Amino acid sequence: MKAENLKALKEEVALSNRALHYYGLASYMGQASARIAGTDRIFIKPRSHMGLSQTTAEMIITMDLQGKIVDGPQGARAPAEWPLHTEIYKARPDVNGVVHTHQKWVTVFGIAGQTILPVHHPSLSASVFPAYGVYEEGYRTLNTVEQGQAVARALGDGVGCHLQNHGVVIVAISIQEAVLTAIRAEHQAELNWLAMQVGEREQIPIETLRPSIEKRFVPKEAEKRGGITRDNWSNQMKWADQDPEVLRFRCVQL
Ligand SMILES: [Zn+2]
Repeated sequence: MKAENLKALKEEVALSNRALHYYGLASYMGQASARIAGTDRIFIKPRSHMGLSQTTAEMIITMDLQGKIVDGPQGARAPAEWPLHTEIYKARPDVNGVVHTHQKWVTVFGIAGQTILPVHHPSLSASVFPAYGVYEEGYRTLNTVEQGQAVARALGDGVGCHLQNHGVVIVAISIQEAVLTAIRAEHQAELNWLAMQVGEREQIPIETLRPSIEKRFVPKEAEKRGGITRDNWSNQMKWADQDPEVLRFRCVQL
């Protein structure tokens, strides 16, 4: 990868970690990572010593899939949960972005052993299909290669896996898509819970979700009109990064 592309990817990794904070999915625990295309290396946020909202490209570390830091600021440490990321990248060549959070609503369904159903808007609700697997092999912090491998098995070829009584891991073709999927899944989980308070949940049929499902691991070009990028990520994150306060009322921000 060219130096300018590496720099751009590192900037996106930093923005992705900030975005997890903007959308209320994480404060200082959790992390987003990206595979450096064509290598066995990833960019990942270092061990939590600052809020995710403070993450800058200069802080991002480069790690190989054995967990060795190969580049980064002096003294930077790997996050405790690095094997979660590296073992998924090893098991899933189609995955280039991994997000781990303790986001509230998705975690509630992991704790309760309930499936988050696709209930709101066809393209957004594809974020919770297929039903998330569950890693339930103990309550300890997930920081060994063996635990990472068990999560990768529970994830299978899906997009999300509950870490029961802990949080969730979400994967995608890119780090940007992984963050967007985490945001959408959180919204689906919250609406599931609210719907369960007033009646039965009506699930959106899989046939309706299929167009979104079929294209999610297909690389896509950013759409440009009038020289301005029009993809979801750019639209959403540009203003979020400029003014995170607007997301305080997240329930009406879709
Ligand atoms: Zn965690």
